Amino acid sequence: EVTSFAVRVAPLGGTGLVLVLAEDQTEQRRVEAVRRDFVANISHELKTPVGALSLLAETISDASDDPDAVRRFTGRMQQETNRLTSVIQDLITLSRIQGAEPMANPESVDVQSVLDEAYDSVRTAAEAKEIEVVISGAEDLTALGDESLLATAVRNLMANAVAYSPERTRVSVSAAANEKTVEIHVADQGIGISPQDVERIFERFYRVDAARSRATGGTGLGLAIVKHIMTHHRGEVTVWSKEGSGSTFTLRLPGPQDRERPRPGENSDR
Ligand code: ADP
Repeated sequence: EVTSFAVRVAPLGGTGLVLVLAEDQTEQRRVEAVRRDFVANISHELKTPVGALSLLAETISDASDDPDAVRRFTGRMQQETNRLTSVIQDLITLSRIQGAEPMANPESVDVQSVLDEAYDSVRTAAEAKEIEVVISGAEDLTALGDESLLATAVRNLMANAVAYSPERTRVSVSAAANEKTVEIHVADQGIGISPQDVERIFERFYRVDAARSRATGGTGLGLAIVKHIMTHHRGEVTVWSKEGSGSTFTLRLPGPQDRERPRPGENSDR
């Protein structure tokens, strides 16, 4: 890695001395490079479906006397539109949540409802692959947070578990609490993730296999969204994985017992 310094030289009036300031810009450059990559990735992810839509529209107008072709191409247009909608939706969620302050007034959230809500949106995909989704341990559990954001986080993990698992496997979603924290685990028997990739999967648009991700409707933003949702909740997301045998993602959240305890540097005027 190259280290770069910005050097400023300022004469100290009348003394004949100069002041030399050296500022380490390595981090600044890294942040700038990450931002540039992100913008390039967004452009690519938006332009690809728009380009495909434009081409398909042209093809349809040329084939307007062939009803079969028209049906086929409008189906493809629908798919590209769905892809565009997912990317835009994920970008909106990400921009709302990234950089947000930790939540000031979290609500009590029923964990079972969060898991059920998340499961509803992956049910069709799971059934299509005959993947059994087993939910356990969440009865009467309460976490502190925002129900809709938590459901988004669990939905993203469940959608990945289904997408990156072979047919007729099992996805286990379980919840557990101790005095201070509530944990939600999403475990699959899927393809797993190598140690090098595990380091990077929470980065925006990072995919181990881009073609595979796109084929299952992935945007490459799901785990970045999960990470930011957890930070906003003063929680964390961790992963255990073994290539070829499966992955377990864990969300760790403050539980209701944690509400009474003021945190350092925080006023507790409630
Ligand atoms: P995507 O939309 O591509 O799924 P994510 O941010 O949700 O984007 O995940 C990033 C990448 O991490 C995925 O493309 C995939 O390579 C890998 N990944 C995520 N979850 C799993 C999982 N349960 N099993 C195997 N690989 C996974």
